[in-house]
Amino acid sequence: MFRFHERPDPTAFEASGPLNDARDEIRRIYEAALPSFASDEDRIAFPKKVLGKSSDHWKGFKEVFSDAQHGRCGYCDVVVVGTQFCDVEHFRPKGEVEILDTAKQGKEQDNLSNVKGRKALRTIGTGYWWEAYSWKNYLLSCEVCNRTWKRSYFPVNFDPMLRTRPVEGVPEDELLFHPFEDEEPLNHFRYELDGRIRGISPMGVATIETVGLWRPSLVIQRKKKLATLARLIDEMLAPSASNELVRSHVRTILELGSDDANNFPGMTRVFWAQVSKMSWEQLKELNE
Ligand SMILES: [Zn+2]
Repeated sequence: MFRFHERPDPTAFEASGPLNDARDEIRRIYEAALPSFASDEDRIAFPKKVLGKSSDHWKGFKEVFSDAQHGRCGYCDVVVVGTQFCDVEHFRPKGEVEILDTAKQGKEQDNLSNVKGRKALRTIGTGYWWEAYSWKNYLLSCEVCNRTWKRSYFPVNFDPMLRTRPVEGVPEDELLFHPFEDEEPLNHFRYELDGRIRGISPMGVATIETVGLWRPSLVIQRKKKLATLARLIDEMLAPSASNELVRSHVRTILELGSDDANNFPGMTRVFWAQVSKMSWEQLKELNE
């Protein structure tokens, strides 16, 4: 996971009349329906059309999130622009909330992105509908992370069988890493040389499960980059390393973990810190 430092500018989004109208109309629809619901499973589908127009106004802002995220998926940290259309993902699901059965997380089919057997323990009939048109609820995601793994899952630190319908203004102990919030990946994730990612906090564990960061196709890709990184770090930290070699390797590692690197710069930064016991900032200082 990578932590992006700046959300794109929301000015155009907040000034959009059709979008603000849609937000008001969604509020009216939900506030009319909710009082008659008897259980958390009662549902209304998030409308595909609002006020006679398609409700997906967020789609028009895909480009700005892609720009801010350098074309990378906010979950798997791989460049996806150019090979797929990508999604503006709702971090908090707008239509319903699925609760993952962690014993049935699904199996990725060999050499494919398809997943079989991923199951929800329960589905709550409405989601975070008031966040459907919320700038801070958006990020660019690849279609596989969003549609196949994340779906409408949103983990919170609460008994899955007792969890209730989300209510506006009622805070939850959220367990999904948000790439634009203040969480530091190093506090939640570790990487093994064989390509596996490991959660070292409840948020780390839940994020890996929710977005399927453990899937074999990603493990294979990460393993190749980790082998390169491990070699570079080993060589530059060896007592016999020349100043010239250290300088050259510092530059290479900084490139592999740069904001606009292609794949897994978030992993690069965490792996550097976990192996060298030095921060990313300290690595930058070595380059000065
Ligand atoms: Zn992804």
